[in-house]
Amino acid sequence: MDFNDNPKEAEFRSQVREFLDQNAQKRSEVSLTGSSAGAPETVSGEDAAKEALKKAKEWQKKKAEAGLAAILWPKEFGGYGGTPIEQVIYQQEEHNYFVHSGYFEIGIGMLGPTMMVWGKDEDKKRYLPKMLNGEEIWCQLFSEPSAGSDLAGIRMKAEKDGSDWILNGQKVWTSGAHFADFGMIVARSDPSAVKHKGLTYFFLDMKTPGIEVRPIKQISGSANFNEVFFNNVRVPDTQRLGEEGDGWKVSLTTLMNERLAVGDPPGLDFDQIFDLTKEVEVEDGPAIKNSEVRQKIADWYVQSRGLQYTKYRSITALSKGQTPGPELSISKLVTASKMQDVSSYALDLMDMNGYVLDDKNPVMNNLFQNGLFFSTALRIAGGTDEVLRNIIAERVLGLPQDERMDKKVAFKDLPSGKN
Ligand SMILES: Cc1cc2nc3c(=O)[nH]c(=O)nc-3n(C[C@H](O)[C@H](O)[C@H](O)COP(=O)(O)OP(=O)(O)OC[C@H]3O[C@@H](n4cnc5c(N)ncnc54)[C@H](O)[C@@H]3O)c2cc1C
Repeated sequence: MDFNDNPKEAEFRSQVREFLDQNAQKRSEVSLTGSSAGAPETVSGEDAAKEALKKAKEWQKKKAEAGLAAILWPKEFGGYGGTPIEQVIYQQEEHNYFVHSGYFEIGIGMLGPTMMVWGKDEDKKRYLPKMLNGEEIWCQLFSEPSAGSDLAGIRMKAEKDGSDWILNGQKVWTSGAHFADFGMIVARSDPSAVKHKGLTYFFLDMKTPGIEVRPIKQISGSANFNEVFFNNVRVPDTQRLGEEGDGWKVSLTTLMNERLAVGDPPGLDFDQIFDLTKEVEVEDGPAIKNSEVRQKIADWYVQSRGLQYTKYRSITALSKGQTPGPELSISKLVTASKMQDVSSYALDLMDMNGYVLDDKNPVMNNLFQNGLFFSTALRIAGGTDEVLRNIIAERVLGLPQDERMDKKVAFKDLPSGKN
């Protein structure tokens, strides 16, 4: 395991630091207890969300001008032409600053690379530059009410009509669909084929007639993801990526790129709860002096260091040009539940202040309130806890796979609520 950057990595890190120092505010310069309304972690409510989107677009443009908007993209598409380790370095450094990001990760991280592999030259020329500089935002229309972990079970219908396709059905949990300009979608074009076969992949304009986006209001007050209904939505065949029936293959390009995103999820960790215990009082004095509190934070310290060294293993693999193994699943599994435990405990320690979530008057930057809400989503997004445990069981521990009854049966003959 390597703990230090090699000379090339160190040089890249200092170039990134210089850019960030000149253009963004360091997290360490903002007091946790001070009021910092407008910090990315405090975003909840419609006005704050609009303002955050505007700031995010400005930030993305600035990154694009500096050549740092997409570290992994080849230079021919305006990217930095970097390696996965340089991507990790960029994410590690940006994480130390208050910047509005996160709106472009799906496009730049997953959908852009899919278009690079499967798109036509004229599409790459038309769409990739604006995806890169934040001018146009993309969303990923994959999950459906009965297809999430089991993505190949999607039911959205795609029927050929001359030189167009007609889409009917529903997607759900589509992050950013309410402000996205374009989307990438996978739909079932041949129900008589087996599950993973009869799928076809398209990109489309989110303003196409027949698309209805309904934001889902979350417990935090934000509405980051949506239900998206398709009612006879016409998509030209020229917007198909890959061959008819190859939708699963194209989706794998998207999903493989999702797995490459090894960045730290935003939010809180040991340092923040440690700071909090120094600030708040419990019945026998400062929380940090209380033996029960100390035991708790010691456990989180151990988890946090374990995660850090697990991450070093992934980073070392990336640095050597290898693909990180299933340890990425372990990281997300532990990170998400640790975040939930830490924030829930912090809110108890904050007493009545823990009940307040007001972005105009944030208590402790709303860090723990938002952390609690975000951690529950993190335990589902990009692979639920149970699915990750299956991966660890099968690929790390070598346990046998679940029985698969749906492999050789035509999709239309699989039992469902309707038949
Ligand atoms: C914050 C957030 C953002 C998202 N953004 C997007 C987006 O932009 N685009 C998009 O397409 N989707 C998005 N999703 C959807 C996400 O991909 C799915 O929620 C996820 O794949 C789980 O699918 P599901 O919600 O249908 O749950 P299900 O798959 O129905 O799971 C329900 C329960 O069953 C368990 N389960 C399922 N299969 C197994 C199994 N084989 N073994 C054991 N237990 C199992 C699960 O762990 C879970 O507890 C997002 C989700 C979240 C939380």
